Amino acid sequence: MITKEQMIDYLQCDISSFGFQDLYDLVISKNNCINCGACLSICPRIGIKNNKPTLIDYDPECSLCFKYCPRTFFPKKLFEKEIFNEQTQKDFLLGHYQEIIAAKSTSNNILRKAQNGGVVTTLLIQALNTGLIDGVLMTNKDENWYPKPFIARTPEEVISAAGSIYAMLPTLSIYKKAVYKYKIKNLAFVGLPCQIQAVRKFQLWPPLSNKYGKFKLIIGLFCSSNYSYDSMINLVHDLIGVSMMEIKKFDVSHGKFIAYLNDGTIKEVSIKDTSKYHFSSCKFCKDYTSEFADISVGSVGTLNDNWNSVIVRSNAGQQLFNDALTTRKIFVSNKIDLLKIKNASKKKKLQITQTNNNIYSALKFLGISKSQIDTYITLLSLGEADLNMMCEIMKQRPEIIYNILKTLKQRKWISITDQVYSPINPSHVIKREINNFRNDFKKHINTIKSEALECLKTIFVQNNLMNLENVDFDYIIF
Ligand code: SF4
Ligand code: SF4
Repeated sequence: MITKEQMIDYLQCDISSFGFQDLYDLVISKNNCINCGACLSICPRIGIKNNKPTLIDYDPECSLCFKYCPRTFFPKKLFEKEIFNEQTQKDFLLGHYQEIIAAKSTSNNILRKAQNGGVVTTLLIQALNTGLIDGVLMTNKDENWYPKPFIARTPEEVISAAGSIYAMLPTLSIYKKAVYKYKIKNLAFVGLPCQIQAVRKFQLWPPLSNKYGKFKLIIGLFCSSNYSYDSMINLVHDLIGVSMMEIKKFDVSHGKFIAYLNDGTIKEVSIKDTSKYHFSSCKFCKDYTSEFADISVGSVGTLNDNWNSVIVRSNAGQQLFNDALTTRKIFVSNKIDLLKIKNASKKKKLQITQTNNNIYSALKFLGISKSQIDTYITLLSLGEADLNMMCEIMKQRPEIIYNILKTLKQRKWISITDQVYSPINPSHVIKREINNFRNDFKKHINTIKSEALECLKTIFVQNNLMNLENVDFDYIIF
């Protein structure tokens, strides 16, 4: 359990007095907002301007927007304990899981409309029909492919919103409408890994979890990156050469971004060519498989695009999946390429932020080597890593990296728990180094005064007094 003190220490501040400006400084202005809508849902004083959360009224600094934003902090270990039982296996690249399997809907009606194997749609309908949930927060789109948060309360509405949209939108902003207007008591949520983190915070993080935690089922999608609606329009125009109105369906498969057009044409471009259109915060995202969902669903790792890969994680997820299987709503198959999913996850976890040379020249006074700085920055980019991963990324032998990590640990730039290294907040690190520097400098001043200066003064007095007739004695300090 993370204590309040640890949290304050981690964030270096007491979050109880935080307001929107702090959220802006730490998340929005750093291009790290994922447009989940959590802050919009919690606070009527926050609206959207230029596609970004914006303060539109007086801020009483209650700190709730800051507390519930998934990008300010995410109490990972605490939530892992709450969501997963001891029997779940844990894999660094895949997160917690009880079962990983390929699956496909048995309904042709669903398969016609849904993305790939239609597992998400089938599970949602099963959950609605069995009374596990009575509504779903998900996304839908209009005929211009304009995405919008959507509340589905019937199987027909779920089917109408089937298929991936590939655009970020604030789905959580309609939470209150679902709970207070539509009186939904048990909600499901379908979304991206980053959104799932916001939903878990609503569900599990006090004090608002009573009011905002009506989620009974959380289905996460695999995600390597995403787009804003505006950048999607540009991508489709620039790379596919059509308008959004001509699009029937998008897919990302085998390294390709694929557009299925209404006239039956299929156009594809390399996913690499789409990177300049990616949503800014995707660069800092490490979660490929929605590690905090009850069930995660994607297409990578399947035999062909008509199946889904399914990672069953929590008991709630396992129960629903078994239920769908025993009532023959889905088929399953063991033909799943786990390595492909792991590689996709690894690629995302190992995204490194590039730095500039100013960092090296500014830090050289601390007597720290370039390789130590590189190792620390690599760990800052990864968030956490074991020795093997560090060696792989730094392209160095284990003994070299081990020694660097050991020095950084002694110098309190990094910490280690269960063989996993994590970076210490740079504000702490630099503050400590400056204090050390100051203390060392003070020690040196005392030594200089007591030893060198005394000796120099004596030599000066012994050898120079006779020459001082014309000198202003005020400047001579004995
Ligand atoms: S990530 Fe979500 S909660 Fe955080 S600032 Fe963006 S929209 Fe608000
Ligand atoms: S890459 Fe990460 S931040 Fe971007 S949409 Fe996917 S889950 Fe969200």
